[in-house]
Amino acid sequence: MEMYVEASKKIKKIASEVENSFYTTVLTGAGISAESGIPTFRGRDGLWNKYRPEELATPQAFEKDPKLVWGWYTWRMKLVFSKEPNPGHKALAEMEKMDLVKSIITQNVDDLHERAGSRNVIHLHGELKEVICSNRSCDYKVEAKTILDEIEKRLPTCPECGSLLRPGVVWFGESLPTEELSKAFQEAEKSKVILVIGTSAVVQPAASIPLITKRKGGKIIEINPDTTSLTGFADVSVRGGAGEVLTAILEILKRD
Ligand code: NAD
Repeated sequence: MEMYVEASKKIKKIASEVENSFYTTVLTGAGISAESGIPTFRGRDGLWNKYRPEELATPQAFEKDPKLVWGWYTWRMKLVFSKEPNPGHKALAEMEKMDLVKSIITQNVDDLHERAGSRNVIHLHGELKEVICSNRSCDYKVEAKTILDEIEKRLPTCPECGSLLRPGVVWFGESLPTEELSKAFQEAEKSKVILVIGTSAVVQPAASIPLITKRKGGKIIEINPDTTSLTGFADVSVRGGAGEVLTAILEILKRD
C-alpha cells in the first residue's frame, strides 16, 4: 500500500463518504479477484502479457478456431470454479448486508461476489458458469459445470438446434446485455458514491459508468494498486490491494 499514514487518512475518508452516502454502488474488475488467484488481463501478471485477446476472445476467433477458444475457456472455467472469494469480496458482501452498499456492477465473469454473499450483482460481461448457444436466435443455456468433461473431449453442440455451444461471456466487439447495461446506468445515476475497484478502466462502456455518477454530482472513489485512466476523475484514490483496503474500511464502518 502507499505510504501508511497517507493511506490510512484516505481509508478513513472513504469510510466516512460511504457512511454518509445516501446510495453507494460498486464497480469491480478483474483486480478484485486477483487475490483469489485468478489472473487479471492487464497490469502486472496480466494474462494479456502472455496471450493475444484477438486470438481468443472474439467471435471471429471462435469461428476460425473453436477448439483453441474452447481450450482457453475450459482452462479459465476450471480455474475460476476452483477458487474462493477473498476478503475483498467478503467485505463488500458485508457492506451490502449493513445496507451501506446497494449494488455491485461487475465486469468479472467469475461468481465470487455471489459466493461471498453479495445479492445485487450486475454482470456486464456475462458469466463463465454459463454455456450458451452460438446461434443468437436459439436461447438454449446450460450450466458449464455439468458439461465441462464433455467439452474437453469434443466440441459441444446445441441439443436444440445443432449449432456450436459457446461460453456465456461477452467477447470483444460484441454488445453488452441490454438489461444489465441499463440497470448499471440506473445504479450509477442514483449513486452519491461509486467505489471503483480493481479495474484498469479501459474496456468501454464499463469504464464510463463512474463518470455518470460524477456528472450527476456523486463521487468516484478508486481502490487499485496502480493508477488508471479514471484516477484523474477520482475524488479519492487509494493505492492498495482490494482485500487489504476494503477490510480496513469495513472495520471502521463496523466500529462507527
Ligand atoms: P484488467 O485486467 O484490465 O485490470 C485489472 C486491474 O486490477 C488493474 O488496474 C490492476 O492494477 C488491478 N489490480 C491488480 N491486483 C489488484 C488487487 N489486489 N486489488 C485491486 N486491484 C488490483 O481488468 P478489467 O478492468 O476488469 O478488464 C476488463 C476485462 O477483464 C473484463 O471484460 C473481464 O471480463 C475480464 N477479466 C475478468 C476476470 C474475472 O472474472 N476474474 C479475470 C480476468 C479478466
